[in-house]
Amino acid sequence: MFSHLPVSGILKLPCRMSSSLASALPASLLRSAAYIGGSWVRSSDSATFPVVDPATGAELVQVTDCGPKECRETVKAAAGAFQVWKEVPSKERSNLLRKWYDLMIQNKEDLARIITAENGKPTKEALGEIIYAAGFLEWFSEEARRIYGDVVSVPMKDRRALVLKQPVGVATVITPWNFPSAMITRKVGAALAAGCTVIVKPAEDTPLSALALAELAHQAGIPAGVYNVVPCSREKAPAVGEVLCTDPSVAKISFTGSTATGKILLRHAADSVKRVSMELGGHAPFIVFDSANVDKAVAGALASKFRNSGQTCVCTNRFLVQKGIHDVFVKKLAALIEKDLHVGNGFEEGVTQGPLINERAVEKVEHHVRDAVSQGARVETGGKRSTYGKNFYEPTLLSNVTTKMLCSREETFGPLAPVIKFDTEEEAMAIANSANVGLAGYFYSQDPAQIWRVAERLEVGMVGVNEGLLSSVECPFGGVKQSGLGREGSKYGIDEYLEVKYVCFGGL
Ligand code: ADP
Repeated sequence: MFSHLPVSGILKLPCRMSSSLASALPASLLRSAAYIGGSWVRSSDSATFPVVDPATGAELVQVTDCGPKECRETVKAAAGAFQVWKEVPSKERSNLLRKWYDLMIQNKEDLARIITAENGKPTKEALGEIIYAAGFLEWFSEEARRIYGDVVSVPMKDRRALVLKQPVGVATVITPWNFPSAMITRKVGAALAAGCTVIVKPAEDTPLSALALAELAHQAGIPAGVYNVVPCSREKAPAVGEVLCTDPSVAKISFTGSTATGKILLRHAADSVKRVSMELGGHAPFIVFDSANVDKAVAGALASKFRNSGQTCVCTNRFLVQKGIHDVFVKKLAALIEKDLHVGNGFEEGVTQGPLINERAVEKVEHHVRDAVSQGARVETGGKRSTYGKNFYEPTLLSNVTTKMLCSREETFGPLAPVIKFDTEEEAMAIANSANVGLAGYFYSQDPAQIWRVAERLEVGMVGVNEGLLSSVECPFGGVKQSGLGREGSKYGIDEYLEVKYVCFGGL
C-alpha cells in the first residue's frame, strides 16, 4: 500500500530543492508526491526521480517515482470514484470545474513560474499557456451542461427511440512536456465534464505542473479519485503505461506525444478494445504563394515557427515559398529573427527563446542542420548552438533546402526554419501532402479561389489561412493520417469521453 500523507505534511516529503530557483518556486503549489484517491502518496519503494531546470541543468526537486503497483491502486481508486462521479448532476460537475478554473486564474503567475522552471519556456509564454489551459476547464464547465441525447422517429407505430449519452468510464491520460498544463486540462476538462474519472501520467520532464493542478483540484473540491496523478521516471514509463493502458477497468486512453509512443499505446488498447484519442506528431507545411502579403507572411512565420523554441506539434516544420516572393520573404524573415528573437533563460526579461527541453533535442536540431548544409542548404541566420548555455540553439533559417534533406522529411521539434522554393501550386501541394502525418498546415495567399482550393486540399486536421497561430479552446484540435485520432477542445472534444446508447421502447 501507499504511505498516505496528510495534506499539511506534503512538504516534509523527500523534496530536495537544490537550486535557488526551486526555492523561488511557490511552495503553496509545489508538490512532489503522487495524488491518488484524493491523498498525497509516495511509491511503496520510496523511489524518486529528479526534475531538472532545462536552462541551467540544476535539479529542482525529487518527485515520487510510481510503478505498476501504484498504478493498479490508482485504477481502483478512479474506478470507485467513477461510480459516484457519473451520477453527480452535470450542473454540479460544471460548478466544480468552474471553481478549478477560478483557482487556476487566481494562481496564474505561480503556475506559470512552475512551467518556466521545468519546461524552460519564457514566463510570458508560460502565462499564455496557463490562460489557455484554464480556458479548457472554463469551456468544459460550460459544455458539461450541454450533453444532449436525441429522440428519434422510427417507422413502427408501437415504438419510440431514444439516444442517451453516457460517460465512457475511467480514462488514462498520458501527456507530453511541451505544454505541461494545457495538454492536461484539454483532456481532463472534457473527461470530467462528461462524467469520467482520470489518471494522469505526466511527462517525466514536467510533472510539477500536473501536481500543482492536483493541489488546485483538491482546493476546488473535486472529489477524491476523480483526478489522479501518477508521476514516473522515463525508465518506468513503459511498465506504467502498460498497466494504465491494459487494465480492464480503464475504458479510455487519451495520449499526446510522439507517433512512436502512440503506436505502442494503440497496441496496448487493442487487447481490451479501449476507446482511444491520439494527438501525435506533425510536420506542418507553411506555404507562401506569390500573391501573399509578404510582411504578414513573415510575421505569421515567426509566430508559427519559434513559439516554445519550435517545440510544439503545430509549429511549422517546413516553409514552401513560391519563386516570385521567395527572395524577399527569406530576407525579411532573417531580419525579423535577428531583431525580435532573444535567446536566454525564460525567467529573464525580454527573452523569447528559452532552452530546448534536453540535450537530445539539441542534438536533433544540430543533426538536421548538419545534414541540410552538407547537401547544399544555405544558413541565412543562426545555424549553431547558442553560446548562452548547454540546451540552447540559435533560431535558424536555412534556404536552398530540398525535399531530400532530413529536415524536410522529419519533425525537427526545434528552432529550425527550412525554406524550400517552389514553382507551381500543384508542386507545393504535392510536397505538402507527401507526409504520412497531417496535423496543422498554414498558407498565405490573397487569391480567394486559391484559398478555397488549398484549404480543401491540404491533408491536415487544422489549416491557418493567412494566420500562423490557430489553437483556440473553442475550435477542434487534431490531425489526420498518422497525426492521430479524435479531436480535443471545441464542442466535439467531449464526444471522446461519451458513449452513445440507443434505447428502444417497444409495445406502446
Ligand atoms: P518525447 O520523446 O518527446 O518525450 P514521448 O511520446 O516519448 O515523446 O512522450 C510523451 C509521453 O509519453 C510522456 O509522458 C512519456 O513519459 C510517455 N511515454 C513514453 N513512452 C511510453 C510508453 N512506452 N508507455 C507509456 N507512456 C510512455
